[in-house]
Amino acid sequence: APSVSDLKDARFDAVVVACGVHPRVPEIPGIKHPKVVFYNDLLSGKSHAGRRVAIIGAGGIGFDVAEYLCHSQPDEPPKSRAMDIREFQQEWNVDASLTKAGGLSGDPLAPKPSSREITMLQRKKTRPGLGLGVSTGWILRSSLEKRGVKIVGGVIYQRIDDQGLHFVAEGEPSTLAVDTIVVCAGQVSNRDMLTELLKTGIETHVIGGAKEASELDAMRAV
Ligand SMILES: Cc1cc2nc3c(=O)[nH]c(=O)nc-3n(C[C@H](O)[C@H](O)[C@H](O)COP(=O)(O)OP(=O)(O)OC[C@H]3O[C@@H](n4cnc5c(N)ncnc54)[C@H](O)[C@@H]3O)c2cc1C
Repeated sequence: APSVSDLKDARFDAVVVACGVHPRVPEIPGIKHPKVVFYNDLLSGKSHAGRRVAIIGAGGIGFDVAEYLCHSQPDEPPKSRAMDIREFQQEWNVDASLTKAGGLSGDPLAPKPSSREITMLQRKKTRPGLGLGVSTGWILRSSLEKRGVKIVGGVIYQRIDDQGLHFVAEGEPSTLAVDTIVVCAGQVSNRDMLTELLKTGIETHVIGGAKEASELDAMRAV
């Protein structure tokens, strides 16, 4: 990536900063424990998740991470399933031979085996996944339900240690004995080079997640 002095040397008339976001680091004691990974490192394949996983945060990214984990084996490199027609048909019991009534070979919502035990947690008491897309959120929710993904709301995080993730829900203290804790707890703007850049006096425009990280989606970023 270019440094601020590279940008200065290139004598640009203006610079647009569109460096995106960093994951937000929640203030939970033990957040630097080796069990903890951040969603960006997991999805890029830099970090891996074990068999028993807790996901901190049940927003859009938390749901995508849960879906990704349901369809990958522990320690397997990430792969895209988006274009795998056969896997889609198996997932939803679509009858590709077109011989069965309704085009279905079975109940599309029947439980499916999962190689992982996944629990999603959120601080809010509202229904999990409330902010998911109206036309697509139900697909994600059904897909996770089929694989037995649990969602716990109204959580107060206590700490992370060798035992796992400790929290309180509805007044009851609990411990999730997990191998991996994936943090999907929001984002903060990536302004790593902004302060230095502004000092140069070059005309600077900040856009997308670098400008405002909350409630970010691709529509607002552009
Ligand atoms: C798992 C996940 C699922 C999502 N799903 C959706 C969705 O379904 N719909 C939707 O609308 N949005 C979705 N989003 C949000 C969407 O990705 C963001 O809102 C959008 O990408 C923000 O655009 P941006 O240009 O601000 O940043 P980004 O798209 O993140 O781009 C920033 C780029 O800057 C690069 N960069 C960083 N620092 C430097 C540097 N110093 N020099 C040069 N380059 C640098 C980064 O490598 C990156 O390529 C999702 C996000 C995630 C993480």
